Amino acid sequence: MIKVHHLSKQFGEQEVLKDINLTVEEGEVVCIIGPSGSGKSTFLRCINQLETPSGGTVRYNGENLVNNSYDIRKFREEVGMVFQKFNLFPLKTVLENVTLAPVLTKKGSKAEARITGMELLDRVGLAEKADEYPCTLSGGQQQRVAIARALAMHPKALLFDEPTSALDPELVGDVLEVMKSLAKDGMTMIVVTHEMGFARDVADRIIFMADGYIVEEGRPEEIFMAPREDRTRTFLSRVL
Ligand code: ADP
Ligand code: MG
Repeated sequence: MIKVHHLSKQFGEQEVLKDINLTVEEGEVVCIIGPSGSGKSTFLRCINQLETPSGGTVRYNGENLVNNSYDIRKFREEVGMVFQKFNLFPLKTVLENVTLAPVLTKKGSKAEARITGMELLDRVGLAEKADEYPCTLSGGQQQRVAIARALAMHPKALLFDEPTSALDPELVGDVLEVMKSLAKDGMTMIVVTHEMGFARDVADRIIFMADGYIVEEGRPEEIFMAPREDRTRTFLSRVL
């Protein structure tokens, strides 16, 4: 579904991504782990072209997104992104946050969007907050609204960039539960995370990045129980 080939990215002199290759199949959950500054966010941002890659290709169902003739809006409508900072619209209610994009992109009528929006809020456990404003919600609740908002576009895949890193520890679990349920339902997901328990339980594949490279990848049991590379071992010994 998503195929990254020889992807590189430089900021000035600094090479932040070096020859990244990754294929993600439909229904797969790929977790990306690695030290801070290793290029994980830049990698996700290069996938949906929030950053322009310096080299290489990113293909989505065969089409190269790193190509001026590709309309990136199409990709962003089909592949949602959830950020560390939830970026909800502060002057819109929770339900309006969820219905805004589908209405603007004419995915259906306003009434339909409201019905779907309420179903999605129910799914993330926040139906009773529909008419509240984001500032009255906890960080964990806001992040669950952000996930509902991404789901409102009926995405084919979702990219997550450390969705729980900005949350107080006691709020992390509810967000991870929502993500787990999405994974269980077969959503294709690329998740940058520091939550090793989540990665171990939910990922089909773990990617370990350091210094702009994919150092190692494998099934969770391989990476966590028997990492091949020293750098992976060192990183895991610090975070586990
Ligand atoms: P991670 O998400 O793994 O912590 P990032 O992708 O955020 O890593 O950053 C990788 C490196 O790229 C860091 O050294 C960071 O300072 C640099 N970087 C990221 N974004 C920019 C930017 N817009 N301009 C310049 N340097 C950047
Ligand atoms: Mg990051």
